Amino acid sequence: MIKEKIQELSKSIFNDVVGNRRHLHANPELSFNEHNTQAFVSQQLDALGIPYEKMANTGLVALIKGSKPSDKVVALRADMDALPITEANDVPYKSTNVGVMHACGHDVHTSSLLGTAKILTELKNDFGGTVKFIFQPAEEKLPGGASLMIKEGVLENPKPQAVLGQHVMPLIDAGKVGFRSGKYMASTDEIYVTVKGKGGHGAQPQQNVDPVIITAHILVALQQVVSRMAQPSIPSVLSFGKVIANGATNVIPNEVYLEGTFRTMDEVWRKEAHKKMKKMAEGIAESMGGSCDFNIMHGYPFLINEPRLTAATRSHAEDYLGKENVLDLDIWMAAEDFAYYTQVADSCFYRLGTRNEERGIISSVHTPTFDVEEKALEVSTGLMAYLALKELGN
Ligand SMILES: [Zn+2]
Ligand SMILES: [Zn+2]
Repeated sequence: MIKEKIQELSKSIFNDVVGNRRHLHANPELSFNEHNTQAFVSQQLDALGIPYEKMANTGLVALIKGSKPSDKVVALRADMDALPITEANDVPYKSTNVGVMHACGHDVHTSSLLGTAKILTELKNDFGGTVKFIFQPAEEKLPGGASLMIKEGVLENPKPQAVLGQHVMPLIDAGKVGFRSGKYMASTDEIYVTVKGKGGHGAQPQQNVDPVIITAHILVALQQVVSRMAQPSIPSVLSFGKVIANGATNVIPNEVYLEGTFRTMDEVWRKEAHKKMKKMAEGIAESMGGSCDFNIMHGYPFLINEPRLTAATRSHAEDYLGKENVLDLDIWMAAEDFAYYTQVADSCFYRLGTRNEERGIISSVHTPTFDVEEKALEVSTGLMAYLALKELGN
């Protein structure tokens, strides 16, 4: 019964949801600067008569309480920020804020959650329990809007028994969704290293301390941390994408600068790996007569989908979309600040398919040609409403 009602409502609001998505897409804002986005979401909530509070400067939290008696609470989360990318798509809703683009689909998440709020407002008399709507800023930038919202108490008063989040995925066809129980996404730390030596003429290496060679040794040796020291059961990735040794064919520079990323899925190992990498790099530099400043900037923790909640939610998604439209996901070594919710509350982060190969909608997130098949917006709104009501015991 409730399922059919939700499916009908998600169809009837579809055009409005697409309109909202296009409005947000055309007006993207960078992390921690989502002022107009926040104003837009508050107008929409006002129009629906849903009470809300502003949080974390540019975020909001809203509540809808069903009329039937129940103390249960479920939270639904959307992120609202865009990326510093210039959009290359030629579409009517192209970004009008040049250099800023919704290239991670957070416009979809925000407009979908507003759609879910609309559906649940219509169904207020049909369910028991409270649904908390989290519109958070700054998923794309450390320290992450999620961590600020949690610090400001978004998971208190009332405290949700479960937090659900969805994210677009251009690898999955629109109409389908994907789940993974347990560890799903990685912690991420940024590594900044300066290897110091003593520069000079390339013809007289005996008079110099060559930081380029020291760096070469460090780069190769550090891979030992992920290939030999990490437990094989704990996924670990170490990549250096920036190595600058700005000498010349015959000039040995004074120093080499490196930037990299370390990703894993275990907090104890994460700390241990940091120590090992630092010790190894410093030891190698020292043994070769140089030195090394090894700095790690801590990013998001790993993301874990609570098994009971994920199994239940996955099976509710099968009810709603049909078994053939619910897929299993592999682990994904990218990071996501939804991880903060998963570290403190039972949570489930699932993927919303947005691909349409025939229409050429295949670009990855974080690229200038990223777009979504908007048919996915019918799934995203209704499915989340259904998952919330099921988790509340309706
Ligand atoms: Zn992103
Ligand atoms: Zn994202």
